[in-house]
This record gives sequence, C-alpha cells and structure tokens, in this order.
Amino acid sequence: MGKQEDFVLRALEERDVRFVRLWFTDVLGALKSVAVAPAELEGAFEEGIGFDGSAIEGFARVFESDMLLKPDASTFQILPWRSGEGPATGRMFCDIEMPDNSPSYADPRHVLKRTLSRAADQGYTFYTHPEIEFYLFKELPSPGRKPVPVDRSGFFDHTAQSQGADFRREAIGMLEAMGISVEFSHHEGGPGQQEIDLRYADALSTADNIMTFRTVIREVALSQGIWASFMPKPFTDQPGSGMHTHVSLFDGDENAFFEAGSEYSLSPAARHFIAGVLAHAPEISVVTNQWVNSYKRMMVGSEAPSYVCWGHNNRSAMIRVPMYKPNKGQSTRVELRSLDAACNPYLAYAAVLAAGLKGIEGEYRLPREAEDDVWALSERERTALGIKPLPKSLNEAIAVAEESELLAETLGEQVFEFLLKNKRAEWDEYRGQVSAFERDRMLPVI
Ligand code: GLU
Ligand code: MG
Ligand code: MG
Repeated sequence: MGKQEDFVLRALEERDVRFVRLWFTDVLGALKSVAVAPAELEGAFEEGIGFDGSAIEGFARVFESDMLLKPDASTFQILPWRSGEGPATGRMFCDIEMPDNSPSYADPRHVLKRTLSRAADQGYTFYTHPEIEFYLFKELPSPGRKPVPVDRSGFFDHTAQSQGADFRREAIGMLEAMGISVEFSHHEGGPGQQEIDLRYADALSTADNIMTFRTVIREVALSQGIWASFMPKPFTDQPGSGMHTHVSLFDGDENAFFEAGSEYSLSPAARHFIAGVLAHAPEISVVTNQWVNSYKRMMVGSEAPSYVCWGHNNRSAMIRVPMYKPNKGQSTRVELRSLDAACNPYLAYAAVLAAGLKGIEGEYRLPREAEDDVWALSERERTALGIKPLPKSLNEAIAVAEESELLAETLGEQVFEFLLKNKRAEWDEYRGQVSAFERDRMLPVI
C-alpha cells in the first residue's frame, strides 16, 4: 500500500470517520455512491470492492456485470455537511475495474484518464478552469409548475441581504473545506442565476471537482430551504446555464499555448488545438451538450454560441481568446463557451482534448477569427466566411456523432454505443411530446 493509502487509513482513525462514501460517475454524468465501513478500506485499496455494474446506466453488458470499485486515495476528503462535532463521513472517487483488474471500458473517469495519457505521450498536461452557472429556486421542483427564482437580480448585481450572496458564501466555504479553490463568484444574468469559477487544475482533478461541486451546491441549497439546478435552459426568456471552460496545455512547467510576440501570444500548438476543437465541435456536441434541453440554450442571440468560430473578445464566438496580458505567458489559454453545466465533465473534457490533440497531430489550420457578432451576419455572409452552425437539436447532434471516428475512438465502443442509443431514445420520447407552445397556438384558431 502506498503513502496516500496509509494517510487515508490514519485520517480515518484521527477524524473518527464512521462511513466512507465511494463515489463514481455513470455515463450520463450522475454521481453514484456506496458507503463502506472504515474497516473495509484496507481491502478496498488492495482488491477493490465488488458491485453489480449492470445496474448502473451504461456500465456493463449483462454477462460482465461483476465490477470492482478501486478508491483513489489522493481524492480523500471529509464531507463537511455530514460531519459536525461528532463522527465524520469521508469520501473518495473510485476507478472502476473489471474482475481481472483491468480498467473498465465504461468508466467515464477512465475515458478521461486514457485521453490524458495520450496527451502525456506527447509531453502535454491538460489544464481546465470551469465557470459553472446554475439557478437557485425558491422551492423543490414539482411537475408542471414553473420554478420561481430566489431573486430578481442580474449580472454582477450586489443586493443587500441577498439570498444569492449568502448562498455563495456558504457554498464556497464548503468547497474550500473540501480542497476546491474558488476564483470568482457572482450573480449571473438571469434572476436567481449564480456563477462560481473554480481555479484551474489538471483536467482529472477538475472533473472530480465538478462532480463534488454539483453535490455541494445541492446540499447547501437544501440546507437553506431552496433548490439548485444545473439544467441548461430552465426558462425560455432567460439565459441558460453554461460551463464555459478555459483550457491550456502545459509541457512540463511551460505553457505550450504561449509564444511571445505572436498574435494574441498563441503558439502554433495553441492555434492547431483551437482549429481541432472547432473542426470537431459538431460531432462532440452530443457529449458537451448532451440533453434535449441543451440545444435550447444555444439559440441565436443568447449568450451561448450557436456557430463554430473563434474570436478575441467576441461573446458570440464558440472559442474566445481572452485578453492578452503581457508578462503573463503562463496564463495563456482559450475559453470554450459551448459546454453546458449538465454535461458529464469526464467525457466532455476527454472529447475536447481529443479534438484539440487531433488538431495538433494533423496541424489543422486555424480559420480566420470572427471579428463581427456572428449572430448579426446573414446566412450568406456566414457561409462566405466559412462559419458553420453547431447542431440545432439533440437529433442533429446524434446524427453527426454517429459518423464520428474521433468520438468512437475517444469514448470507446461501449460508451459510444450506449450513449448514442440512450440519446436516440431521449430524442424519440421528446419528439412525441405535445407541448403548451403547440396547444396555446393552435387550439384557439384551428
Ligand atoms: N449564461 C451564458 C451561457 O449560457 C453565459 C454568460 C457569460 O458570458 O458568462 O453560456
Ligand atoms: Mg457566466
Ligand atoms: Mg465565460
């Protein structure tokens, strides 16, 4: 057993931990948890803990249902909301293994790890920094009722005694108690909408942190008698919740996206990376924007992108290169604005990285930057500039994903097939729904 495992075993005693929750994530991005007694952990570190994988969305074919949870000792934390003065509850993220201890092909964490190791083969570490948006509502959701936001404030508003500010303060305290550093937080554009930005970290830690973040946000909301949701677009006439992510590659201690003196200080690797993400954006949409509802966020004129293009200080662009700061080469990065707050972060980051690496390997040429507001251009002007649309619906996203070698290769056969089948079923069910929009328009006149 390694040092980190020893550290966890000691911490269990010192902190009087009664339960350790073993966390993992299914293919659609739902967090799963099984609590074990501390006495089980030594064995769990050595041999793993068995469970029936066929009961988890997308995990196993029935004949291979036995799987193992292998806790990752480096992720051990005490859950602040379960641990007052008395005994504590801890948690660790797990890797999923097959009975022969090979990594499970269906584990989203493994999908990301596999892609990260491809980057590592080329000398790169992938860093990400997410800006996570979400809404706070007054009550728990109930079927057919429109949710009521906790306030009527807007972007960056500072309101005396606001529920949002109290909420953010408590949530950030809890995130920091779990080792997750927060860089910024503010009220977002919609009523009751908040944004919290995590400090940049390697993509695996960030993805784990996003899963923890969603849990912490929900727990804090419930403890304050309100409800938090990461639904990409809860209201027709208010902004959606994105998860813009700043990305960069490091080569050792050096930011591989930086080149002094070049345009926006972007290195050739950065330019190829951006070109790769742009070229493959439509086919990875089913992962970066995985729900029927995701595509309602990405409407023309909203603050979420609907076209494949990049720009500098251009909020309609899918990829934005933040302002160049001289002497700050290490912070060179690009902001990907398509991701939404309800994606599976492991799969989404794996797909983005794979697309960027493909751009580097194939030396993709970066198209010209979009200088104008791409929404204001006519269809003809966009075509002339070579600016293509992102999928407009989950249906379109599935159609391009089905043809994607890059996605199949990155996710692996099992996850790729499960995901597409699941998403097709979601679309088919949605397609048959008769909505209030149709009734309100048609019943009075037809
Ligand atoms: N809420 C917007 C979105 O859905 C982003 C607003 C912003 O620029 O932060 O992407
Ligand atoms: Mg924002
Ligand atoms: Mg942003």
